[in-house]
Amino acid sequence: MPIHVYQASGDEHCAQCRNGFEQLEKMSAEPLSNCPQCGAALRRCITAPAVISSDGHLLSPGHIEKHGFTQYKKVGQGEYERTAGSNGPDKLKA
Ligand SMILES: [Zn+2]
Repeated sequence: MPIHVYQASGDEHCAQCRNGFEQLEKMSAEPLSNCPQCGAALRRCITAPAVISSDGHLLSPGHIEKHGFTQYKKVGQGEYERTAGSNGPDKLKA
């Protein structure tokens, strides 16, 4: 999901929109035009794709493997289990 950063565009603002705030939105969501707190007019500053996502394409095990990376999942205190990739041991102990 993309994260949009909104900031008050005029003189009217509250503590939330004065310095800008991040808003996580669905791709299909309409952009905010007014601050949900004070109703001030907003402008959208940055649209950044969410890079870290548990179900995102970029981090899917198949993608990781294809690019030669190895992914480990934490399974316990200092213990990691390999979930993708063929390099490295099946299990790691920190
Ligand atoms: Zn506001």
